[in-house]
Amino acid sequence: MTFRCDLHIHSCLSPCGDLTMSPKRIVEEALRHNLDIVALTDHNSALNCPAFFSLATQSGILPICGLEITSREEVHILALFETPSQALSLGEWIYEALAPLSFDPEKYGDQVYVDTDEVILGAVDRYLGQACEYSLEEIIHAIHNHEGLAIPSHIDRPGSGLLDNLGFLLPPEETGFDAIELSKSYWLSPYPLPNQHKYACLASSDAHYPDAIGCLFTLCEMEEKSWKAFAKALKNKNLHIPPLV
Ligand SMILES: [Zn+2]
Ligand SMILES: [Zn+2]
Repeated sequence: MTFRCDLHIHSCLSPCGDLTMSPKRIVEEALRHNLDIVALTDHNSALNCPAFFSLATQSGILPICGLEITSREEVHILALFETPSQALSLGEWIYEALAPLSFDPEKYGDQVYVDTDEVILGAVDRYLGQACEYSLEEIIHAIHNHEGLAIPSHIDRPGSGLLDNLGFLLPPEETGFDAIELSKSYWLSPYPLPNQHKYACLASSDAHYPDAIGCLFTLCEMEEKSWKAFAKALKNKNLHIPPLV
């Protein structure tokens, strides 16, 4: 069976995410775009994952609980998990590695976490858009220790992508990456990247606003809609990116 997946979405918890991006709104938009599998991946925190997990499960969407971590090298990497508790546990570890600088919501944007009815439960007091003090290698190790999947985000994007910051993509046996994500500009005009064919390649919306959800997605060939089958599809590279227009 083929399932439509958007595996990189930011909520109102990300300082750059729109305040309307509550877990409730994200699930509503995901249903409107016929998405089967959706990952919530806020910058350096998973505090909106419990509400998202509950709402998505009720709606029939397979939720994936994640974070988009910024490493010490300024590389963005997605950490994807089966359950909110795994993502929250990694999030606590990341929080300890963020500089406790005073945070100004007026200047950088809100960082709020909410319940299933969009009631604000709290705000994170450390700026989530910063790089944490852990290296990429330490982060990959921690993701795998939490039984998650480690996928560098938009690796071809200037500024926060792996290629711009490190200058190379080593093969999977040397990096430990479970897949790689390529940006929209890559899929509009694909070109060969070193070692790219050795990885499962993903396309995702990286949505920060409701209208962007599902604008870019990956089709996964899976036996059933489950975390286990999803991890297997990545391992076997049973993925397809439809041509963009
Ligand atoms: Zn990013
Ligand atoms: Zn992102």
